[in-house]
Amino acid sequence: MEAIGHIESDFPDKFGIPRQPGLAPAARAVLRLAPPYADPLAVRGLDAFSHLWLTFVFHQSPPRWTPLVRPPRLGGNAKVGVFASRSTHRPNRLGLSLVELLEIDTRRGVRLLLGGADLVSGTPVLDIKPYLPWTESHPDARSGYASAAPQHLAVGFSAAANATLTARSDGDSLRALIEQVLAQDPRPAYRNGSEARIYGVRLRDVDVRFHAPDDETGMPLLRVVEIVPA
Ligand code: SAM
Repeated sequence: MEAIGHIESDFPDKFGIPRQPGLAPAARAVLRLAPPYADPLAVRGLDAFSHLWLTFVFHQSPPRWTPLVRPPRLGGNAKVGVFASRSTHRPNRLGLSLVELLEIDTRRGVRLLLGGADLVSGTPVLDIKPYLPWTESHPDARSGYASAAPQHLAVGFSAAANATLTARSDGDSLRALIEQVLAQDPRPAYRNGSEARIYGVRLRDVDVRFHAPDDETGMPLLRVVEIVPA
């Protein structure tokens, strides 16, 4: 197989990317098709679909796998079979994501603008298929250890972070992206209780530095300390 195109996304790094598509709807990605697939004929009719399945390669994962993996949803402790997981460490390294199709641009080659993708920039895409909700949506399906959407954390911004966002032309969409990404709690499952620790996540062209301040209300909160050029 060969890639039909590559992703350019709001996520220059793997760290911080939500663990499934649609969890950060503000995330934008472009799928740029490569010759000979960058032919407008190949996407004729696709604009009538709101969502697409992308098949892609986890190109940033090592090509080795083990039969048991530790899903982050189980706190990084319990193990399940690799085929009972969405782990990136799997045979053939194939990924599958349902994304929103926002626009198709065929003026120079073919570019698909996508919403909510969980893909790092540079991801090679192998195929595109339109999503058919009448057969592919099963809201009552059982989903094992991932039976409900993950809980969201509250997200706050320092005055300095707010000022950085206000000064940017994409400030509103970047704020939404940061809120949606941090609400998923991108911190590693293994933490040794250091609330003072500053974490960083790279989004678009910035590093977003955040921490988990002590909170009297008991409500988990992540607070953006500063937003600096990457
Ligand atoms: N929705 C897809 C699936 O189920 O096959 C991906 C699920 S996987 C758990 C999502 C994670 O894959 C993201 O949080 C990100 O860290 C990682 N990821 C995204 N693109 C990748 C790539 N090209 N190579 C390796 N890891 C990637």
